[in-house]
Amino acid sequence: MSKRYKSILLFGAPGSGKGTQGKIIGSIPGFYHSATGDIFRSLDLQSEMGRTFWEYAGQGKLVPDELTIRLWKQYIKGIEMINQFHPDSEILVMDGIPRNVVQAQLLEETIEVVKVVHLICADLNKMVERLRRRALRENRFDDASDEVIRRRLETYETDTRPVLGYYPPEKIVKVEATMSQIRVLSKIVEILVPLKEEHDHRRTAMAK
Ligand code: ADP
Repeated sequence: MSKRYKSILLFGAPGSGKGTQGKIIGSIPGFYHSATGDIFRSLDLQSEMGRTFWEYAGQGKLVPDELTIRLWKQYIKGIEMINQFHPDSEILVMDGIPRNVVQAQLLEETIEVVKVVHLICADLNKMVERLRRRALRENRFDDASDEVIRRRLETYETDTRPVLGYYPPEKIVKVEATMSQIRVLSKIVEILVPLKEEHDHRRTAMAK
């Protein structure tokens, strides 16, 4: 088995702020942010994969697991090959994947999850509001209707939330997502600092 990528999962419902936080964390040296939604949205609409994505996402459903994981693995290999992602020195920040237990299992041989950052948001209305605003701002057609938003939140509850039971409880850290963005960021950074230092320490020890 080849070496697994050291990873942290950003976990939470649609609208909990995973993407916003993930992008900022991905800009810190030593971290690489990978958002499946962005990978899917960058696909050519004429391609079969691109069409499949819109077909599912447009209804608020998950893209089939095998396809999703295959695409993600190809993508990550690609960015590693073109020297954009350096697994030896960087920690992967997974955003939007795994989205169900089957995906978590399929990823087991590829990633080593060291922490799950669970962005919690008890206020459903607040999340729906965020999704509506984002739909307008970013042209996210999948959040343009309340019906699709509702379906996406349902999919989260039935398929995605059980992923929390897949990982050992000591790896899961809760962060309240309704705080200000900078405070959420600061909480996440607090969690990441020791992980990063340990990762660096191991590397230097191995190089000796
Ligand atoms: P959000 O950030 O609002 O949670 P994403 O941009 O991550 O949404 O995802 C948009 C859509 O892309 C999802 O509704 C789903 O159809 C598809 N998608 C993204 N990630 C996955 C995944 N891991 N498995 C299956 N489908 C996915």
